[in-house]
Amino acid sequence: MDSSAPLAWIELDKAALRHNVAVLRAGALHQGGRPPLLCVMVKGNAYGHGLVAAAREFAAAGVDWLGVADLAEIRSLREAGIDHSLYVVSYLPPHQVEAAIGYGARFVVYDADVVQAASVAAARLGMVARLHLKIETGNNRQGLRHDAAVELARVIGADPHLQLEGISTHFADIEDTTDHRFARNQLARFQACVQAVRDALHLPPAGHPDDRLLAHASNTAALLLWPEVCGGLVRCGIGAYGLWPSKETWLSVCELGHKPMELRPVLTWKTTVAQVRAVPPGEYVGYGRTFRTVRETRVAVLPVGYADGYDRGLSNVAKVLIGGQRAAVVGRVAMNMTMIDVTDAPGVRAGDEVVLLGSQAAPDGGEGDRISAEELAGWVGTIHYEVVTRIAERLERRVVA
Ligand SMILES: *Cc1c(COP(=O)(O)O)cnc(C)c1O
Repeated sequence: MDSSAPLAWIELDKAALRHNVAVLRAGALHQGGRPPLLCVMVKGNAYGHGLVAAAREFAAAGVDWLGVADLAEIRSLREAGIDHSLYVVSYLPPHQVEAAIGYGARFVVYDADVVQAASVAAARLGMVARLHLKIETGNNRQGLRHDAAVELARVIGADPHLQLEGISTHFADIEDTTDHRFARNQLARFQACVQAVRDALHLPPAGHPDDRLLAHASNTAALLLWPEVCGGLVRCGIGAYGLWPSKETWLSVCELGHKPMELRPVLTWKTTVAQVRAVPPGEYVGYGRTFRTVRETRVAVLPVGYADGYDRGLSNVAKVLIGGQRAAVVGRVAMNMTMIDVTDAPGVRAGDEVVLLGSQAAPDGGEGDRISAEELAGWVGTIHYEVVTRIAERLERRVVA
């Protein structure tokens, strides 16, 4: 075999990704004027899917913008030759603003120092910086309260080197609950603030042919729940990767009488069996002797561990797929190795393919089984966002047609 063949890798299903982009786009409804722009979030190494590989596919699938967290991600994309429109949602310190503008990225602002730095940098570059003002409506993470926001909007509006391209907020409690009163309240505050900014800057009303201000609050959950409030732009992360934000979102969508959108998981995490060992009854497997055999046991060793993002909390609880069937992780997940019990799958040999996350067909081509990101998250007590995002960057991402 090729000596560079990886021991563990990620496959990205291009057809699933394209499907998700198409259904999210179709799901984001118009409000009068233009359809909302679709910004797919590729922060966090594209939710673990691989920043450059995923961004390239999303760009080719026709998404309007890509959403990044910081300057490092902008650089990685530009250095990979991806010249798509970028929007920075997290944080740029004043000293990174000029570089971001130079790369043509637009970014969120919520403090006067960054706005000032943007003005100076844009003037120096002979460019206009495109800014998105963040409104604090209940998350207390980023953003300005109503009056301070209107004031900063005036500063931006009066500066020829700055363009107030957008105005945004972010929901604090939309996917964790089926009670959306808090989120509705955030939306109402946001809409009031958008109106106040429009009035202060004498901008045309939403839906007017001359309206250019992009008001945006929707993440995936909001798009699924309230397709009618998408505004000028939607910021979709998790849904673009084919995952529902949560069970609660699914239930709420059903309760509202919408037909839940069909999303298709994009990512499959694979490895191969390194070795199969026979372990007599009464012996221990792995660090800390947390698993003891009760029978003649066949243990397969997988060349993957917590250094790859396979969480140590999966020790003795997770299942993997081999030959389309489930096999149990036994003993502790180590830094680079994990053991599974394949006693009941006597055909297993070194080199066989194992799926840690995703689906695998049965050997007869039958339906097989699936380990979902939600299931892995349940085993370790976290959310599926974190499970996929923590898959190590060093694993190769392969796009499969
Ligand atoms: C990550 C992020 C999103 C996307 O959220 P999903 O739940 O993954 O759709 C949207 N907006 C902001 C500001 C974000 O940081």
